Amino acid sequence: MKNLRYVLMALVLVSVFCFQATKASALEAKFDFYYQSIEEVKTINEPIEENDSLWTKFKKTVKKGTNAVKRLWEKGVTRNFAPGEGEKTWYSEGDKNIAYTVKRTKVTSEAELLSAMGVKSESELNDGQKALLAVFRKSKSQAIADEAKIGYIPTVKVLLSDTTGFDDKSKYPNVTKDFWPYSSGLAINMSSNNYNYPGGDKDAESTLVHEYAHCLDATFKEFKNPYGLDGSHYGNEITGKRAAFVEAWAEYNEMIASEDEAKAILKRSESLCEESKTVAGSYTWNIKQEDCTADQLMRSEAHLAKLLYRLTMETDNGKEKVYKAFTSTRLNVFRDMSTFVKKFIKQNPGDTEVVCKIVDEVFLGKMTDEEFLDYVGKNDVTKAYVENRGKNTEDENADIQIESSDTEVTTSSEKITVENSSGNPFSDD
Ligand SMILES: [Zn+2]
Repeated sequence: MKNLRYVLMALVLVSVFCFQATKASALEAKFDFYYQSIEEVKTINEPIEENDSLWTKFKKTVKKGTNAVKRLWEKGVTRNFAPGEGEKTWYSEGDKNIAYTVKRTKVTSEAELLSAMGVKSESELNDGQKALLAVFRKSKSQAIADEAKIGYIPTVKVLLSDTTGFDDKSKYPNVTKDFWPYSSGLAINMSSNNYNYPGGDKDAESTLVHEYAHCLDATFKEFKNPYGLDGSHYGNEITGKRAAFVEAWAEYNEMIASEDEAKAILKRSESLCEESKTVAGSYTWNIKQEDCTADQLMRSEAHLAKLLYRLTMETDNGKEKVYKAFTSTRLNVFRDMSTFVKKFIKQNPGDTEVVCKIVDEVFLGKMTDEEFLDYVGKNDVTKAYVENRGKNTEDENADIQIESSDTEVTTSSEKITVENSSGNPFSDD
């Protein structure tokens, strides 16, 4: 799998390089949509029993090996490059002995999507299916068109996975994780069961904006456990610093597309969580941001998203500046937020002081002077800022307090994304 990932990484890098090198004109958002519904869950590997004959054991072992290769191919190549139509196999990540038969249909219009879903009008759909339809519609929105201006993948594949009929967790315990929304950088998967509740369509739209933002980003997350031992992350989790930057970029795009998302993500930064370094899935919850170290805050995706958002809101033409600094650091695949901030300042020297103020406030003034200068880069203005730092951070975060918000806060019960189960070329499971 590693080798396959490196091939995918190389392909994406070549795409980024070609895009940057030729200064190609902005790409239109172009998606190939495939609707797929589960038809059956099938057992692909029989357990090897003690009293099996040697020949039977041999056959079962060979079959297991063959299925492992097919799984890698299906996840790494088929989904990303050639999903195809008709009956297809979707391999389970949660249980290596099962796979799903899905019926896949390419759709180019709402009418085709409804027809593939087997209905005449959307009133016949359940909430999860409505969310898939909303994703299709959202792909034609201004928010996506704005993101597409810095795209470098000519066509992103979007798989709309309809799990209807297989949502009973007691019967099909792996379906949720096996079809969890993700972006591989080249393809996006969305599933109905994640949004099968009233209002799920809005959340699904926001997820599309998020996952598509990942398709614009060639940053390599940490090679080992970027999201910790469980391989997935919460929106208020403290992770690896490059992983936090990657997620912050995606969340930032959600924030500028939706005020509600912006409020929710700003609120999320108030209380964080962190996974144990030794026990997968074991978390410390409700870590108040005030109790975090500077290092923890610099690895908090919610704080980094807040930083990008504040740069947009508090500088003139902030969004253009953020996008420009993002694209012009894109060939640095090991970038983190500090790489971005330094570029932002270099490109917008007149904003240096306000950037310093925002960085200092977002990280609650917790960096030492040395850490601060290391983060924003040294020049006359940043050095002068540091001289007066004590005075500057007294009103930390004062101007971004959100009025009493009743927005849902992401808490321990809600995982945001499972990035690592996807064959994401930029992840390590
Ligand atoms: Zn993400």
